[in-house]
Amino acid sequence: AEEVGGGDKEVVREYFNSTGFERWRKIYGETDEVNRVQKDIRLGHAKTVENAMLMLTEERSLAGVTVCDAGCGTGSLSIPLAKEGAIVSASDISAAMVAEAEMKAKAQLPPGNLPRFEVNDLESLSGKYDTVVCLDVLIHYPQNKADGMIAHLASLAEKRVILSFAPKTFYYDILKRIGELFPGPSKATRAYLHAEADVERALRKVGWKISKRGLTTTQFYFSRLIEAVPM
Ligand code: SAM
Repeated sequence: AEEVGGGDKEVVREYFNSTGFERWRKIYGETDEVNRVQKDIRLGHAKTVENAMLMLTEERSLAGVTVCDAGCGTGSLSIPLAKEGAIVSASDISAAMVAEAEMKAKAQLPPGNLPRFEVNDLESLSGKYDTVVCLDVLIHYPQNKADGMIAHLASLAEKRVILSFAPKTFYYDILKRIGELFPGPSKATRAYLHAEADVERALRKVGWKISKRGLTTTQFYFSRLIEAVPM
C-alpha cells in the first residue's frame, strides 16, 4: 500500500501496540483502574459510540447490513453493531487492539455473528460495504493526509460513511487541558484536530455530502460525529 501516514503511521502503530494499547484498553474498558481524566474520556467516548449507533439504526435495521469498522480499537462499536445483526468487518493497524477486540467479541456475542477481524491499516482496506464507520481515528492524521484517508473510506462505502473527529473549534480548550490529558511526553502521539469545513470539503471533492451531525463534549473529550451520503 502507498504510505499515506508516512512516519506518523509507524509511530501510531508502535504506540497502539505498546503504551497506547495499555492506556486505551483501560479507558475503553470497564474496570476502575482509570484516573479522573481517563474516566471522563471513557464517558465521552461511550456517548460517541451511542450516538453513532443511533445514527446507524434511526431509519432502518442493521440486520444483514455490511459495515466496515475502520480503526476498530477494542471493538467498542463493532460489538454493538454485530449485536444489531450487522455483518461487521473490523480492522485496526494495531495487532494488540485487534486481539483485544476479538477476545471481547467472543465473550459477548454468539459464534454465528462474530465480526471478521483483521490487522490492517485503513489505507490498505479494499472491498465494498454498505456502511463505513471510522470513530476517533482522524485525530492521528494531519490535514494533508486526512483528505486522502476520507476519500479512501468513501470509496469503500456504497450508502454511507460515519466519521468522528476532534473539532478544531475546541482547539484552545484542548490546549488548556492538554497538560492534564497527556501528562508525559512518552504517553502520547501527536493529536491533530480538524475543522469541520475541511472534512466537509474533502467529502464533497469525492461526491459525498454531510447528512447528519452530532457533537459530544465532556470536560476532556470533544468529538464531532458526522454521517455522509453520496451527493
Ligand atoms: N474506533 C475505535 C473506537 O472508537 O473505540 C478506536 C479509537 S482509538 C482513539 C484510535 C484507533 O485507531 C487505535 O486503535 C489505532 O490503532 C487506530 N489507528 C490509527 N491509525 C490507523 C490507521 N492508519 N489504520 C487503521 N487504524 C488506525
